[in-house]
Amino acid sequence: MDEAALRLVPGARWALWQLPRRLLALVLVVETVAVGLVVAVAAAGSATAGPVTARDVLLAACLVLLSVVHVEVATGIERIRRRVADTTYFDLSSVWTFAAAVMLPGVLPAVVVIVVYVHLWLRVWKPSRVPLYRHVYTTATVVLAAFAAQAVVGAAGGLAGFPANAHGLAALGVAVFAYAVANIALVAAAIALAGAHARLSDVLGHWDDNALEIATLCLGALTAVALTANPWLVVLVLPPLLVLHRAVLVRQLEEAVRTDGKTGLRTAAAWHALAVRELRRCERGGFAAGVLVLDLDHFKAVNDVYGHLAGDDVLAAVGAALRAEVRDHDLVGRFGGEEFVVLLPDLPHGGDANADVAAIAERIRRRIASLMISVATPDGPCSIRHLTVSVGGALYPDEGGSVQQLIAAADTAVYAAKRDGRNRVRMASTLPTMLPRTHPATQPSHIPTARRATP
Ligand code: GH3
Ligand code: MG
Ligand code: MG
Repeated sequence: MDEAALRLVPGARWALWQLPRRLLALVLVVETVAVGLVVAVAAAGSATAGPVTARDVLLAACLVLLSVVHVEVATGIERIRRRVADTTYFDLSSVWTFAAAVMLPGVLPAVVVIVVYVHLWLRVWKPSRVPLYRHVYTTATVVLAAFAAQAVVGAAGGLAGFPANAHGLAALGVAVFAYAVANIALVAAAIALAGAHARLSDVLGHWDDNALEIATLCLGALTAVALTANPWLVVLVLPPLLVLHRAVLVRQLEEAVRTDGKTGLRTAAAWHALAVRELRRCERGGFAAGVLVLDLDHFKAVNDVYGHLAGDDVLAAVGAALRAEVRDHDLVGRFGGEEFVVLLPDLPHGGDANADVAAIAERIRRRIASLMISVATPDGPCSIRHLTVSVGGALYPDEGGSVQQLIAAADTAVYAAKRDGRNRVRMASTLPTMLPRTHPATQPSHIPTARRATP
């Protein structure tokens, strides 16, 4: 896991001293402990004349060389991946750093990590304009993870005699676990303290990403075994590693296609596909579900008055507010221009489900009405207030058995809300009859207002 995970404000280049205090404290403690351990292990090694042999140094040089070749070949793929990766990023170099951790004595694994990460910085991260302090933190977490894996294998008596004994295999498995846990936990702690993400899945990383890290470490374990048995076998590690890069790229491109660029929400097509799945699950589990369609009121006026870029900022802020206002597993999507859609699955059946959906819709409406959104306009920074939204709600299974039917019912309810004066919630269940679908062509009597932000 890597520093993209620590991106606190997208696009911003935060300086170390601008970090939240608690995060700054964590960064400094982790880096100090890593440096302290390196110095202590190096001193202990030289004091005892050291168990490091010329063969160990040769192996370390070999791992660094392999990492350099790997990064150089994969740099093109990595740069594309960096552009599409949103939160977590894996550079797959743990193949070499893990192999170093389980094979090499004393301070050598840390030296391999540092050299590998200096090279990565120069070739991948610096050109991507990632702040140096993040890379230094990542390097420190990897140094600590390497010491953890080294300690596990050391406690098990080393890799001598491996792979003949099952004992060695178990030690390698535990070392993979220790390395992964140390690395993931330290990065997760930094993300949690950054306060930019509230959800557990963001803090711990996605399952796919963690599975990739484990797969990379397993390849690292095989590299160590190959190097122990016959160093030339290590050549066989490179092709699967490069294919792994491409597999990750494909997955991240898929994710990018599913995500709306302006709001970070699901695109309409992705939302629909997931909603169909969720609704089937509700059907099997005997749950009710709610669908909300939300349409910002007089949004055209926002664009006309403050400009399209400000409009985009407003859309992003509304998307974030929607996400914050619903449960983790509720499905939020951008339906079209200034229209959003929410699926609320797993509601208990019964008379209350409709009232629950209406209450959630009302909560969202109030939240959006209370937003103060800072935007940049051609005339300088402004904060937009009094933004309002009309919300239509429909309940599964009462208003339809398919996503399509539920959307249609909720959409009709949105039109009813617009007709009744906007900035309100209407539930499909309370509509008297099907309404004509003409858009009420009232002049905006009330448009979002702005206040110039104090610089
Ligand atoms: P109503 O209350 O009736 O919904 O009025 P409205 O102005 O919100 O609705 P209308 O359909 O007339 O206008 C929608 C506006 O949304 C027009 C379009 O310029 C704007 N819009 C759509 N997509 C985007 C976008 O991605 N960015 C920005 N800034 N504006 C967008
Ligand atoms: Mg609209
Ligand atoms: Mg609108």
